[in-house]
Amino acid sequence: MTDQADTSERKPKTGGKTLSLKRTVESGHVRQNFSHGRTKTVVVEKKKSRTLKTGAAAAEEPAKAKKAPAAAKAAEEPAPAAVEAEAPKPAKKKAEAPAAAPAAAAPAAKEKPASRARSGVVLRTLTEEEKQARALALDSAREREGEDRRRAEEEARRFADEDARRERERTEAAARATEEAARLAAEQTTRSRAADEAKRRLDTDAPAGRVATKDLKADEGDDDEKPKRGAGHTPAKPPVARRTEERRRGKLTITKAFDDEGERQRSLASMRRRVERERKKHMGIQEAPQKIIREVVIPEIITIQELANRMAERAVDVMKILMKQGIMLKITDVIDSDTAQLVAEELGHSVKRVAESDVEEGLVGEDDTTETKKPRAPVVTVMGHVDHGKTSLLDALRKTDVAAGEAGGITQHIGAYQVNLSSGARITFLDTPGHAAFTSMRARGAKVTDIVVLVVAADDGVMPQTIEAINHAKAASVPVIVAINKMDKPEADPARVKNELLQHEIVVEDFGGDVLAVPISAKTGMGLDKLEETILLQAELLDIRANPDRAAEGIIVEAKLDRGRGPVGTVLVQRGTLRVGDIIVAGAEWGRVRALINDRGENVMSAGPSEPVEVLGLGGAPEAGDVMSVVESETRAREVTEYRQRVQRDKRVGTGGRTSLDQMLSQLKEQDKKELPIVVKADVQGSAEAIVQALEKLGTDEVTARVIHVGAGGVTESDITLATASGAPVIGFNVRANAQAREAARQAGVEIRYYSVIYDLVDDIKAALSGMLSPELRETFLGNAEILEIFNISKTGKVAGCRVTEGVVRRGSSVRLIRDDVVVHEGKLSTLKRFKDEVKEVQSGQECGMAFENYQDMRKGDVIECFDVEVVKRSLA
Ligand code: GDP
Repeated sequence: MTDQADTSERKPKTGGKTLSLKRTVESGHVRQNFSHGRTKTVVVEKKKSRTLKTGAAAAEEPAKAKKAPAAAKAAEEPAPAAVEAEAPKPAKKKAEAPAAAPAAAAPAAKEKPASRARSGVVLRTLTEEEKQARALALDSAREREGEDRRRAEEEARRFADEDARRERERTEAAARATEEAARLAAEQTTRSRAADEAKRRLDTDAPAGRVATKDLKADEGDDDEKPKRGAGHTPAKPPVARRTEERRRGKLTITKAFDDEGERQRSLASMRRRVERERKKHMGIQEAPQKIIREVVIPEIITIQELANRMAERAVDVMKILMKQGIMLKITDVIDSDTAQLVAEELGHSVKRVAESDVEEGLVGEDDTTETKKPRAPVVTVMGHVDHGKTSLLDALRKTDVAAGEAGGITQHIGAYQVNLSSGARITFLDTPGHAAFTSMRARGAKVTDIVVLVVAADDGVMPQTIEAINHAKAASVPVIVAINKMDKPEADPARVKNELLQHEIVVEDFGGDVLAVPISAKTGMGLDKLEETILLQAELLDIRANPDRAAEGIIVEAKLDRGRGPVGTVLVQRGTLRVGDIIVAGAEWGRVRALINDRGENVMSAGPSEPVEVLGLGGAPEAGDVMSVVESETRAREVTEYRQRVQRDKRVGTGGRTSLDQMLSQLKEQDKKELPIVVKADVQGSAEAIVQALEKLGTDEVTARVIHVGAGGVTESDITLATASGAPVIGFNVRANAQAREAARQAGVEIRYYSVIYDLVDDIKAALSGMLSPELRETFLGNAEILEIFNISKTGKVAGCRVTEGVVRRGSSVRLIRDDVVVHEGKLSTLKRFKDEVKEVQSGQECGMAFENYQDMRKGDVIECFDVEVVKRSLA
């Protein structure tokens, strides 16, 4: 429509230009701009009064002129709207006319502005040209009119078409809607019919469930039914969803809206967190293979915690791995190096197994060359039977020092002293008599003693401890010098002593042997110089030498924590020279030597080979027998001692376990564990198996017994190690623990229970498991005796000639006969004789005769264990 208006307006404009002379209306098109970019072209008109005059008359009849234009115009301008609009506004034109009149000076009549300006000049007839133009204009106007009409008609037709189309569409849509509605209705009926059908079938087939299922399955397989059901289901979904959507929208409240929003945010956040977690986890997994592979130093035993620390792993992971192997352990439990290695390797670490010797590598220097070695004082240990005069001899020898009696003689008891002889020679005596010290030092690998002086009382002869001393000396390959003491006594019988010694493979010179024997009296001082000479002679034979010009190495002879001075250790320098300021390592302790004090109580700056000195400056008191060495730096000292301390700690941790049966159970309760591990050792494989079977049947709701190790034979150290590591008690069935195992068990706190009746064993464990231990029959070990000889005595039968090796043997106490750590008999003694008399008890070291009640099969080498049985009321820990 607007287009039409435009065209209609454009046309007059074109026409206007053409009919320039006739124009009474100045019109223009103004484009109006509206908001939203809409524009509208409007026609602006300006009307002018037209003056049509012919010659002078034109000026005289202005009124006529006023009317004329209307007529003229009617003839000239067929466009009605424009003409009509011009007429009612004469006044304005009149006012304009006088203004224009004086200005009209131009003679040109052709120009329409000029003609207008020269108003009232002529009423001009139309020129040919003008007529033509007018005709043309008329034609075009007519043409335009026709065109407009045609267009309008066309438009109308188009509209009609459009309407028809819309109408058609509407009808079609309505038809479709009806169709759809019909279809939906049809579906609904189908569905409900299917449901009814299913229900009906279920109802009918309810008693036979399987049949119903079968039917349903058959239904599913039915091709006819399937599409129907499918058609019924698929389109049904969107309306339902739409409905819920609408319902939700309808019920939406602000709170709900916020809630919903919050929920959405939360889930989003949690999703993000989850993604993040996943990412991290993923990264973690990726990182895992990149973890630091460590070389883990594994000592002989290690706690799980320590192992985890060294690997920088979590102890839990270590325990998990062990658990997979079926080993249930706590974080503080110790495992052996093999297990630790398995764990470390499982976790991807490399393992460095270390033995104590590894850390101490290089600590003890290499052997010195012969030319650097110089003679040193021999180190002597005095041994012998109790009361034979060891202490007396040591005191007496002390006094033989050249400075003795004067100020500065040997005044201090530091564990060893050195005697200066008038000849200038020196002898060092270890001030700790008795073979126990000697052996304990030897057991630590310290060979301190060069010569053993065996003191035998001339009036008493060879006694058990004399023999023991001989054996120890022999075992240590240390030469023996026999000092036959108490020669001042009238009953002294050195010949007898020498004779008795022969029995123990000590053949003195008199008898053609190489053992030197010196008769002395510690009381009177007789023969002491001779003894010293003999010692020096022996030392010469031994060619005792050491290199004094090197870093000192020695042995701790004695150590204590002195109140005023702190830890003090007496070092017997073995080679090299110890100086003030040296950094030393002794056992698990180290320190810088602050002062050295000799046996005279003097401060010295150094101590050479075989010189005993007290050392001040250690961090702690080491133990007697510990090896002392000088190291190059504090770092090295720390390294060594830290390692040694760790080993000690590990051992302590291992020994700290509470593994008696009672303690085990309370521990189990604490830990809520369900198993009681047990190590079983039995005399024969058959009984071992019987015990295991019996024990494994014993489970209660609370706990069950689990035999972690079973074997035939005596209880050995390795059994104890295992028991310690597992926190298990050891059960010995008709077997005994050997000495090392006993000691290990004592240190580790592992309980060894001995049984000889399988029912007792089972009952005890059963009672233990059910938490109702009956009063415990506790054995108190009294002593052991070794059978040296079996005598057949007509009246009493077989009698064992024994020597009590440990503790005491008492008549009336229970005894067991043990052969190779296995109990072969248990019962009572019928006889306990010392020499010819019946005695109540026999002390360690003494010999005696023993016979069993109703038992004859004793053999040489068997051990008779003597013990008391006491009833201990079981107290719950
Ligand atoms: P230890 O147990 O081996 O150290 O022996 P002791 O040195 O304690 O001596 C035990 C007893 O024997 C003491 O009463 C000493 O007096 C005594 N005794 C030690 N030596 C002699 C000696 O040569 N002659 C005499 N008559 N008695 C001695």
